[in-house]
Amino acid sequence: MTHRAVAKLQALVRIPTVSDRDPTLVDPEPFDALLDELARQFPVLHDRLELTRVDTHGLLFRWPGRSDARPVVLMAHLDVVPVEGSAPWQHPPFGAEIHDGAIWGRGTLDDKGAVVGICEAVETLLERGFVPGQDVWLSFGCNEEVSGTSAQLAVAELEHRGVRPWFVVDEGGAIASEAFPGVGAPIGVVGVTEKGVTSIELRVEGRGGHASTPTRMGPTARIARAITRLDRAPMAASVPDPTVELFRRMAPHASLALRPLLANAARLRPVLTRALIAAGPEPAAMTRTTFAITTLAGSPALNVIASTAKAGVNIRIMVGDTVAGVLEHVRRTIDDDQVQVEIVERNEPSPVSPYDDEAFALIEDTITEVFPDAVPAPYVMMAATDARFFTAICARVYRFAPFRMTKAQRESIHSYDEHLRIDALVDGVRWYERLIERIPG
Ligand SMILES: [Zn+2]
Repeated sequence: MTHRAVAKLQALVRIPTVSDRDPTLVDPEPFDALLDELARQFPVLHDRLELTRVDTHGLLFRWPGRSDARPVVLMAHLDVVPVEGSAPWQHPPFGAEIHDGAIWGRGTLDDKGAVVGICEAVETLLERGFVPGQDVWLSFGCNEEVSGTSAQLAVAELEHRGVRPWFVVDEGGAIASEAFPGVGAPIGVVGVTEKGVTSIELRVEGRGGHASTPTRMGPTARIARAITRLDRAPMAASVPDPTVELFRRMAPHASLALRPLLANAARLRPVLTRALIAAGPEPAAMTRTTFAITTLAGSPALNVIASTAKAGVNIRIMVGDTVAGVLEHVRRTIDDDQVQVEIVERNEPSPVSPYDDEAFALIEDTITEVFPDAVPAPYVMMAATDARFFTAICARVYRFAPFRMTKAQRESIHSYDEHLRIDALVDGVRWYERLIERIPG
């Protein structure tokens, strides 16, 4: 018999809850429909847990436990990214069709699989009359994909109630197979920090004028020089502590050639840093703050000299660096006081959550119990999640979704052919169930 969570996930995936940076462009109807569907699919949860609505469609549930001294927060988000019309999906992105033992569609991995995993675990435990050892809060945001306010408002609500979570689990990591070349076992990667997303705009103003009488070093040339200078001067690279620990844990499962390097990662940091940088953009991003020049604007007409030239720079700040330090690097590298630097968005990297204490051990042991072949390990997340807002009220914020994912599946997130295997969904439900059961009272 198919697990009942399958039909529930299908029902949620069929509702296209696409968020948008501009709240006025968000269609509230699918979000209303999703909340209705959620209530229909998880009746006991909705009957027994206290619900606070946050933001337009964010949900914050409280499940009272035997104690409220060390509350636990389980997070997921209800919104999804849009589907590009031209993307070559094998199956309809909002069809939630089942093919080859998997449910296909936008949001199966990111992040409705986790919504169903959490809710189904809670529903099952409630049906059994289980009472958790500690208060368990469920926080489901409605605008994670567009850096919306939902999670921040949930944090404000918890703060207002004086809730200091013991630990928080949100999306981010996974049971990742083919995670590293030469490492056979799947790695249960638990994000313990994430890079800070900061955006700046470089701008040069000039006289403009007719293109027949140009001067040297006009705004566009200056912007171009600034960009190439920045491109040629990466920030200092290193291997941060959580990555050293990740490598150390992977070592016994790595190929013989790789094993000594990974096992001695702490001592061999400089060698490892160089190896990662040489291995390509993705491993290189694990070692340092990155700069991506994304937008570029000059004159709107071919025969007009630009009076303003602009370039947008998306910066991912590595743990250990700071916004101030990065800006200092930018100004020093560009070395041109006619180039104005304006901060569009600033986020420091998240503080590193401990990976040597009781809370992490609980997550780790539950991974080992449900996924005996996987190696649990901390890691530094490259992307941003809602979890970062919880670092304001909690020292232990872990980014982990308990689903087996291949490399192709990880690449399908925000892309096409996103799908979650049915057996992976069932394991995920069991992981959340066991985690809740193991929370000590
Ligand atoms: Zn997500």
